[in-house]
Amino acid sequence: MTTLANRINYLAESETLAMSRKSRELRAEGHDVINLSLGEPDFNTPDYIKNAAKEAIDQNFTFYPPVPGYEDLRKAICTKLKRDNNLSYEPSQIVVSTGAKQSIANVVLSLVNPGDEVLVPSPYWVSYKEIIKVAEGKAVFIPAKIENEFKVKPEQIEAAISPKTKLIMFSSPCNPTGSVYTKDELEGIARVLAKHPGIFIIADEIYEHINFVGKHESIAQFDFIWDRVIIVNGVSKAFAMTGWRIGYIAAPVEIAKACDKLQGQFTSGACSIAQKAALMAEITPPDTVEIREMQKAFLERRDLMLRLLAEIPGVKLNHPDGAFYIFPDISYYFGKTDGTVKVNNANDLCMYLLNKVFVALVPGDAFGDPNCMRFSYATSKENLTEAVRRIKEALGQLR
Ligand code: PMP
Ligand code: GLU
Repeated sequence: MTTLANRINYLAESETLAMSRKSRELRAEGHDVINLSLGEPDFNTPDYIKNAAKEAIDQNFTFYPPVPGYEDLRKAICTKLKRDNNLSYEPSQIVVSTGAKQSIANVVLSLVNPGDEVLVPSPYWVSYKEIIKVAEGKAVFIPAKIENEFKVKPEQIEAAISPKTKLIMFSSPCNPTGSVYTKDELEGIARVLAKHPGIFIIADEIYEHINFVGKHESIAQFDFIWDRVIIVNGVSKAFAMTGWRIGYIAAPVEIAKACDKLQGQFTSGACSIAQKAALMAEITPPDTVEIREMQKAFLERRDLMLRLLAEIPGVKLNHPDGAFYIFPDISYYFGKTDGTVKVNNANDLCMYLLNKVFVALVPGDAFGDPNCMRFSYATSKENLTEAVRRIKEALGQLR
């Protein structure tokens, strides 16, 4: 009989982190694993950001920081929101947390009562579902099709709304699909939500700066719903700072205060040194040589992946416009076998590719679409070329 609380027994392990763990284990056994499972830039944090952290240590920023983040960092985030997004926020509306993941958890726990419904356009990022579960909310998935670039239509959202709907959450650019909502598409969604003043909106914009279509569009720009939007963002992806663990929200004051209260009991705020590094990342306009080079590399890799994957029979491709993921439909291979292993679903296919040719991917089930697989292309072109060569060879053996 287990002694653990039900909430832990019901909680699924993060599949993105689980696949990375498996590939690390195989690598430790001496296998030449190419890991396309984790959504993590392969670049080092730029020196100008690392130097700010070194200075922070020398200046003894080693004491508890204010729970919602240092005032100068929160001001820098307001400056960033004005500079990059033309949005006006006060530092009292900003809460800095231990990664965007904690920012999302704070907001969901602050807003969702047991039984409240949370609309989640699907495919969605893996942790949304489990965070909603911890809050005892009910996730209501709104399925989007590959034919529509995995974007939901306003009518679908309208149809999913019930008197119990409290929140909607989505990412654009999207993890796992790389889809980017246009300004018009966001306005269509905003107009539906405008009719339902009890619904809050989490706009997860962590991939803001990895966007191949130009200007980032935020749903917070529509002033008729602005006072219900919670922007989630952070430094992990654009600045190659996943390990520093800094994310933030920009939100109505009441929600910011609730998140402050919650993390005051859970973490006492985010790491002081990492906050000083994040301050440097945020006050510097995002067009430094280092940031531009990373963006250029992601675009080249996206194009390479589209070209290489198109050469594999039966793989139905989407066309990502941002982030560093591609989410093809690979269901053509379900029911096939290489003579030894039978592939019934995306999970089997991922395990087949991992065990046979040592390429790690994540099955689409983790993101709400069991016909797909997520490829993270945040690795070198050499790795990507070799990974797709191996995948093509292994898939070619399935009959
Ligand atoms: N949202 C999305 C869509 C993500 O892909 C990630 C990546 N981990 C996060 C939030 C969390 O980011 P962080 O590393 O800052 O916690
Ligand atoms: N967001 C990344 C991913 O989806 C990192 C892993 C995680 O935080 O779950 O792979």
